Amino acid sequence: MNSIDLAGIGMTSQRTRERLINRLIEQGILDQRVLDVIRITPRHIFLDEALAHRAYEDTALPIGFSQTLSQPYIVARMTEILVSAGPLKKVLEIGTGSGYQATILAQLVDEVYTVERIEPLLKKAKERFRKLRLGNITADLSDGCFGWEKHALYDGIITTAAPQSIPRGLLEQLAPDGVLVIPVGIGDTQDLRLVRRLGDSTEFDQEVVEKVKFVPLLSGLAHSL
Ligand code: SAH
Repeated sequence: MNSIDLAGIGMTSQRTRERLINRLIEQGILDQRVLDVIRITPRHIFLDEALAHRAYEDTALPIGFSQTLSQPYIVARMTEILVSAGPLKKVLEIGTGSGYQATILAQLVDEVYTVERIEPLLKKAKERFRKLRLGNITADLSDGCFGWEKHALYDGIITTAAPQSIPRGLLEQLAPDGVLVIPVGIGDTQDLRLVRRLGDSTEFDQEVVEKVKFVPLLSGLAHSL
């Protein structure tokens, strides 16, 4: 676990942030640790300057390359589901994007691993991790359809882009009793699913949590950007 060093980052108005937290509570986010971490994390540094003034709205925002920084409610909900599985040591995120979700997780679990297929996004995210002095995030350029075998097994896996069906590799890289939080489907909206490995068996149980809207999980690294 890590705490953010806010020196030199510049705080936007506390009132604006508090409004976001109240909205998350109204929408049913209950986990106080998750709310506290969202409250102190500067979401504006994960956006281009032109959009930074909208950082504390409860809305998804563009980060370039047709990708989006997820809506705070969705980040909160997925994080809450993941951390309610118990104390988590190692978590893998597929789809680093801006690095915001990884930053939230890094303050709640021991180690975060995250992969991204678009190099310029990864580069910027890594700069943000450095700036925030988050030493427990390991990020790499890779196709997350295969998970990240090198550091497996993971107590939790979170996917922030939607596949048509759950990639087998992700299930194989779950530790005993590990949980996977993943949007699944190809339509305009997808089902957010919670999958749990049953002990150290190769069996899993699954539930649909709610409808969500994510960018698609694409295979291979992005070229010619
Ligand atoms: N978690 C991010 C959300 C980014 S949107 C944040 O907090 O900002 C989803 C990201 O998933 C995009 O950046 C997209 O490029 C990435 N992505 C899509 N398919 C992928 C794949 N197969 N492997 C790794 N990243 C992928």
